[in-house]
Amino acid sequence: VSARPDLDSCFVSAAAVTFTELVGRPATGVWSAPGRVNLIGEHTDYNGGLVLPIALPHRTTAAVSRRTDGLLRVHSVQVGETVTIALDDIGPGRPPGWSGYVAGVLWALRADGFDVGGLDVVVDSDVPLGAGLSSSAALECAVGAAASDLFELGLLGDDRARARLAAACVRAENEIAGAATGGMDQAAALRCRAGHALLLDCRSGEVEQVPFDLSASGHALLVTDTRTPHALVDGQYARRRAACERAAAALAVASLREVPASELASTLAKLEEELRPRVRHVVTEIERVSAAVAALRAGDLVAVGRLLDASHTSLRDDYEVSCPQLDVSVEAARAAGALGARMTGGGFGGSSIALIPAGVVEEAEHGIRAAFARHGFREPRCFAVTAGSAAGRDI
Ligand code: ADP
Ligand code: MG
Repeated sequence: VSARPDLDSCFVSAAAVTFTELVGRPATGVWSAPGRVNLIGEHTDYNGGLVLPIALPHRTTAAVSRRTDGLLRVHSVQVGETVTIALDDIGPGRPPGWSGYVAGVLWALRADGFDVGGLDVVVDSDVPLGAGLSSSAALECAVGAAASDLFELGLLGDDRARARLAAACVRAENEIAGAATGGMDQAAALRCRAGHALLLDCRSGEVEQVPFDLSASGHALLVTDTRTPHALVDGQYARRRAACERAAAALAVASLREVPASELASTLAKLEEELRPRVRHVVTEIERVSAAVAALRAGDLVAVGRLLDASHTSLRDDYEVSCPQLDVSVEAARAAGALGARMTGGGFGGSSIALIPAGVVEEAEHGIRAAFARHGFREPRCFAVTAGSAAGRDI
C-alpha cells in the first residue's frame, strides 16, 4: 500500500516485489526520489550561479533493508544486474558503472562521519536513463533517503539536513562514479516542493520555493526526450567547466558568478577570444534565471517563454552544447505555438522543454515527432510534466 497517493501504488511496489524475490524476505521500506528538469539556468551551477529546476513526477524507487556484514548488494531492474561490494572496498571508480552511484552515497556518508552499514537495495525507475532528466541523482537520492532513515541519520528532516545529504550525493557522483556534475540535480531531488520550482543559489546553497503551477493559467510544460544519449562523463562537459575555471582565474574572481552583468562587455574584453562566448553565456544565463523568477511571480508566461528562447540561443551559439535533435525539437515546439522552448540539462543530446498552451500539447507532440521523422532522427519521447515532490519514504 502506498503512503503516497500521488504515486501509482503498482509501480511503487514493483521494487519491493523484486526485493522479496531476490533477497528472500520483504524490504524494511521503500524510498523514492524524483528526476528533474531545469526550467532555466544551464551550466550555471558549477559557476556559483542560479538554477531553477522542478522535480519530475518520474521517480526512482529503492526497496531497502540493512545488512549486518558490511556489504552493499544492489540490484537494478533497469540494468538487470546485481552488484555486491564491501563498503570498505568502495573508492574512486570502484565499483565501476551504474552501481558506483549507489555505493558512492554510502561511501560519501561515511566520509562525512556518519555511521553507515551494509544494505540490500533493489532499484526501479521510470526516470529515463541518460536523458538529461537526472536519473543519476534520483538513484543517489533514493538510496541516500533510505540510508538516512535506516541508519537514523536524520538527513531528511529539514532543508538544512537535506542539503547535507545532497552534498553527499554530489560527492558520490563526482568522486566515486567519476561524473563531474554540479550540485543542481541532487538539490532538486532532495529540496524541491510539489507545485514549486526550486530557485537554488549555487554560491550560497540557499533555496527559494517559486510557485510553479502552469495548469492554473491553461499552460503545460512539455518535455521531449530526444533519445540522443548524452555522455556527461566524457570530455565536453569537463572542457566547458575547465574553460569557466580558466576564465575565473584570468579575471581573479572565485567564480563567474562574481562578474556583474552590467560589466559584461568590459570583462569580455579582458579575456582570450575563445573564452568570451562561454563567459557571456554564463553571465547572461544567471541574469535570465532572476528574470524568469520575477516573470513567474508576476504570472507573465510570455516573458518566461522569451527567456527560455534566449537561453536556448545562448546555449547553442555561445556555449555550444546543443545538438541538431535539441534544436529541431525546440523549433518544432515553437512552430506549434510554444511560448518558448530550450534544451535542458547538460546538452549534447538529452531533453528539451517547451512552455505551451495546454490546448496545443498534442499538436506540439505531433509536430516534434513529424520533424524528427523528417530529419531521420530516432523517435523522441514527449510527455507533459508538473512539479513533483522531493525524495522521501513511500512505504
Ligand atoms: P541522467 O542523470 O541525465 O539520466 P547520467 O549520465 O548522469 O544521465 O546518469 C545515467 C546513469 O546513471 C546511467 O547510465 C546509470 O549508470 C545510472 N543510473 C541511473 N538510474 C539507474 C537505474 N535505475 N539503474 C541503474 N543505473 C542507473
Ligand atoms: Mg545525471
